[in-house]
Amino acid sequence: MTASVLERPEAPSLGSLHDRADRVDDALLPCRVNNPELWFAESPGDVELAKELCAGCPVQALCLDGAMARKEPWGVWGGQLFLQGAVIPRKRPRGRPRKNPVAA
Ligand code: SF4
Repeated sequence: MTASVLERPEAPSLGSLHDRADRVDDALLPCRVNNPELWFAESPGDVELAKELCAGCPVQALCLDGAMARKEPWGVWGGQLFLQGAVIPRKRPRGRPRKNPVAA
């Protein structure tokens, strides 16, 4: 029997992710070898750079899972930008507020 193209690949268990994280050298974590301020930057460009750097991180899935569980209030975690515990698509630049409020 062949796998359907609609099936998702098997996600690693949380336990296996934790085991993998314990074995990873900090020197392989982009947020440890680059300026950590990038992961909490005000500039949208720097935030996007941090997200790109996370893409090459060996513990990205674990980091994202942990950040979601902790409802991180701010910063880039696991390649996603968090604000007040939720993932948001991108940081808006500073400037005038919207003329029309966005529905929540
Ligand atoms: S995925 Fe997490 S641990 Fe890896 S670089 Fe990004 S913030 Fe750091």
